[in-house]
Amino acid sequence: MRRFALARILTAVACATPGCGSRTASVPEAEPVLATPAERARAVTSSVDDARLRGAASEPASWLSHGRDPAETRYSPLARIDEHNVGQLGLAWWLDTETTRGLEATPLVVDGVIYTTGSWSVVFAVDASTGKLLWKHDPEVPREWGGKVCCDVVNRGVAVYRGRVYVGTLDGRLQALDAGTGQVVWSVVTVDQTRPYSITGAPRVVKGKLIIGNGGAEFGVRGYVSAYDAETGALVWRFYTVPGDPAKPFESPELEKAVATWKGSQWWKVGGGGTVWDSMAYDPELDLLYVGTGNGSPWSRHVRSPGGGDNLFLSSILALEPDDGTLVWYYQTTPGDTWDYTSTQHMILADLVIDGRPRQVLMQAPKNGFFYVIDRTNGELISAKPYVQVTWAKEVDAKTGRPVVAPGADYREKTVEIRPSTLGGHNWHPMSFNPKTGLVYIPAQEIPIFHAMDREWKYRPGAWNTGTDFTVVAAFPRELVSGHLLAWDPVAQKEVWRAQYPGPWNGGTLTSAGNLVFQGTARGSFAAYRATDGKLLWEAPAGTGIVAAPVTYELDGVQYVAVMAGWGGAFALVGGDAAAAAGVKNNAGRLLVFKLGGEAELPGFEATAVPVAPIAEAADAKLVARGSDVFHRWCAVCHGFAAVGGGVIADLRRSDPKVYAILPDVVLGGAYRGRGMPSFEKWLGVDDVAALRAYLVSRRNELVREAAPAGGS
Ligand code: CA
Repeated sequence: MRRFALARILTAVACATPGCGSRTASVPEAEPVLATPAERARAVTSSVDDARLRGAASEPASWLSHGRDPAETRYSPLARIDEHNVGQLGLAWWLDTETTRGLEATPLVVDGVIYTTGSWSVVFAVDASTGKLLWKHDPEVPREWGGKVCCDVVNRGVAVYRGRVYVGTLDGRLQALDAGTGQVVWSVVTVDQTRPYSITGAPRVVKGKLIIGNGGAEFGVRGYVSAYDAETGALVWRFYTVPGDPAKPFESPELEKAVATWKGSQWWKVGGGGTVWDSMAYDPELDLLYVGTGNGSPWSRHVRSPGGGDNLFLSSILALEPDDGTLVWYYQTTPGDTWDYTSTQHMILADLVIDGRPRQVLMQAPKNGFFYVIDRTNGELISAKPYVQVTWAKEVDAKTGRPVVAPGADYREKTVEIRPSTLGGHNWHPMSFNPKTGLVYIPAQEIPIFHAMDREWKYRPGAWNTGTDFTVVAAFPRELVSGHLLAWDPVAQKEVWRAQYPGPWNGGTLTSAGNLVFQGTARGSFAAYRATDGKLLWEAPAGTGIVAAPVTYELDGVQYVAVMAGWGGAFALVGGDAAAAAGVKNNAGRLLVFKLGGEAELPGFEATAVPVAPIAEAADAKLVARGSDVFHRWCAVCHGFAAVGGGVIADLRRSDPKVYAILPDVVLGGAYRGRGMPSFEKWLGVDDVAALRAYLVSRRNELVREAAPAGGS
C-alpha cells in the first residue's frame, strides 16, 4: 500500500479517544510497520467506535454504516465529482464476486478498505484504491437453504465496529469476523433453524450491540429483532413483533395488548409474520432505534386472522429503546395487511420545516404506495400521500392516521386487480435524502397484481404459505409494468421530477453534494442525474442489471463511486418475461468502482444463451394445463412466471433434455440440492412431476416456434 494510505492507517491506530480518527490527527514519528494486509485492515477498523458511528455524517471520506449515517440518509457531502464533471466518470477497477445470483449489498468503506458481501452471505475485504482482494470469508451456507428464501440468496451488507466485521448469514447465523483476516471470532445462531428463517439484511451497531432481524414470512415464521453484545455474541434482548401462542406467557406487555388485534386459532402455528428483514435507523439524541416490520404470515388475513383485526405489529414502524428493546411507540402503515405490504422499506430520519415548524421526522415509502412523514419523537402521522398509483386505499386519514381501504381491495369472493403489487411501489432498494435539494430519491415502480384466495390452501410447514393463488398472480398485466427514479418533496408531498425506465426493479440511490443522484438500472447500466431537475448527465454499461445501492468515498484526494452489479432478487426471479426484458446477458456479479478519468474496461457482455432444440412429442393439453398449475403454485417464485427465466437462475425451457429425463430425481429426490434447488417430496408426487415435465417441454417447444424465422417451418 502506498505511503498516504499507511499514514492514514497509523493515524487510526494512534487513536485512543472518542472522535479521534479525524483527518487532523498527526502521524506519529516512530512508525510501526504494518506489513500485512491483515494488519492494515484490522488497524483501520479498530477505531470505528460508537463516537465515530454517531458522527459518520461528518466523515465525508468514509461510509461507515449501512445508510452512511445513523439517520440512513445515503447523502454524501463529497463534491469532487459534480454535475459539471460527472461526464468524465470512468471505471477505475472491478472485482469479480464469482456468482451469478443477485447482489444487494451496500459496501462499507473504512479508511481505504471496502467491506462488502456477495451471494450466499460471502464477505469480501478489498483495498479501496486498487481493488485488490484482502480476504474473503465464506460462511458455507448449506445450499438447500436456497429453498427457504423467497427472494434470492442475497445479502445486503455488513457492519463494522472495533476491529471486527459482522455479517448475518442466509441460514440465520450472526458472525463476528476479524477485520484483518476474515477469521470467525464468534458465531451465534439467531433463529430456530428447523423453521424457514433466513437473514438477508445488514446488521446495525447501536451502543455496543448488534441489531439483527430475519425473514421468512412467505413460508411461515414469527418475526422478531434481536440485540447481541458485539464483544461476546451474547443475546442482550429480543423483541417479538407479533404474539405467539396465547396459551403461553407473553414475552412483553406490548404483546399482551397486541393479541386482542388477532383472531382465530391458527396464526401462531404458521408464525404470524412481521419479520424485521431490512430497514433500521437510529437517533442518538432521542436514543431511539427504529425498525420496520413485514407482512403477515400467511399473506391473506382471511386465513391468518379470520374475523379481521389490525394484527399488531405487522407492517409497522417500531421505535424501540436500544438498551433493552422496550417499545416506545409504533405506527402501523397497513393495519390487518392482506396484500404483502411490508413496512421494511428504507427509513430516513431528517429535520424538516413543515407548516413553519421544525419537525424531527422519519420518512418511509413502504410497499403500499404511500409516502409517510412521521414525527419520530412520538410516532404521530404528519402526512401520507401516494407516491405511485394506489388502488387498495383511497387515502390515509389525516386525523386517525389510518388508510381508508377501498372496497375493491377485498379479494375474498373474487379476483381483484390491486396497485401496488406485492413487489411494492418501492421495495428494499434504498432511497436517499439530499438536504441541499430537500428531495428524497426513490427507486419507484408501477406493477399491478391480481389477488385471489387460494381455495386449496392449508398450512404446509416449510413450503410457501401465502393463502393467495399464484396461478392468478401469473397473469399480471405486463404492459402496465414500469419503473422510474422519483424525486419526491417530503414537505409538499409531491413529485418534483422523474426519470422513466422501461421496467421496474432498478437500483437503490445515492445522492451527493455535487448535485447528483446515482442509480444503477435494471437495463444493465449505471447512471448519474442532476439532483435538482433529473437531467441524465452520464450513463455507463454495467454488464448486468443493478439492484443494489451505490456508495461514494475519498482516498488520497480522489473521489470514487462504488456499486455492486448483479441482477437478482424477487422480481428478477418471479417476473418471467417482464424480468427477462431487462436484457441481462451474462449475470457476472461484480463490485464496480468508478472515478473521474477511469479507463478500466469490463470484459465483453456477450450473450451466453445457446440455441434450443425442440423435443418431439405430442402435447397432452390436459397434462400440460395441470403442469402449469403445479408450476405456478410451486416453482414460479424462483423460475419465473410461464417458466421464463429472469436472467438469474435456470430458464427451464432451455434445460439440457437430460434434465427433463431426471426431473423426478431433481424435484423429489433433491439431486440439485447443492445448487440451491430443494426437494419437494413432502408436497409433490410423481404425477405432479410428470405434469410439470409435460408443461416444461411444451413451453420449450413454444420457445423454439417463437424463435423460428417468419415463414419458416
Ligand atoms: Ca413479503
